[in-house]
This record gives sequence, C-alpha cells and structure tokens, in this order.
Amino acid sequence: MAYASLIRNFHNFTCRVLSTSNRLVHNVSPNVWEEKHRSESDKPTFMRNPYKYKKQECILCKLNIKPDYKNVRLLSQFQSRFTGRIYGRHITGLCKNQQRKVEQEILKAQNAGLMGYYTKDVAFCKDPKLFDPNHPFRPHKY
Ligand SMILES: [Zn+2]
Repeated sequence: MAYASLIRNFHNFTCRVLSTSNRLVHNVSPNVWEEKHRSESDKPTFMRNPYKYKKQECILCKLNIKPDYKNVRLLSQFQSRFTGRIYGRHITGLCKNQQRKVEQEILKAQNAGLMGYYTKDVAFCKDPKLFDPNHPFRPHKY
C-alpha cells in the first residue's frame, strides 16, 4: 500500500520535472508535445475572400492624373471622334468624381477654343486609347 503510493508520487514528480524542460517533454508524453505545437499551426490564418470582386479603379485615379482644360490631348480621349459627344461614365469607366471633372474641363476647353464642339482634332485621332468606346466597361442598350 505504502509502496504503491510511493511509486505514484515518484512518477508524478518525474513527470513534473520532465515536462518543465522542453527537450524532455517529448520523452515523457509525445501527445502533449504534439498537441502543444499542432495547436499553433492549426490556428486560423488571415485569408482574402476569394469570392470578393476586385474593386475597379478608374484610369485617372490609377495613374494619378488630374484633368486640366489645357491638356486637350487627354480630354479628347473622352470625346467621340465623329460627333464630339462626351462619353458617359458607363463607357469611360471613370469614377463619378473624375467623370464630372473631365466633363467640366472639356466644357472649359471648348469655351476657351482649345477643343472642337462637334469633332475631335485629327491630330489626336491616333492617340493610344484609355478605353475602348466600342467595348464599354458596362453594357448599355444604345
Ligand atoms: Zn477615379
């Protein structure tokens, strides 16, 4: 009886001593060691939502361009070559703020005589496109 309790006490003592040093924990009980280290690797990690759509940034915000009425070459990109019409937001893909600024600056340039009202300057017709008016960003009925 006394012998059994003595053995039990000795066993508890050795377990306590061995579990304090990290190196010997594995020898004492591998399950405890594994659970301790597995729990760290199994923690939930931050992951981006794969189903979330990437927010589209408009070309002027992306390139950090501020529309100016003197920059006729840039503004003529937002004007139809044939009718002089200012393309809408659904075609240009600009954000509301930039679209409003572009329209204001185009009007300013037209009133200053820098841009045509009905046609685009021929010199600007072969400029690289910021967007394709034939394939607009959002579909529309006309
Ligand atoms: Zn923008």
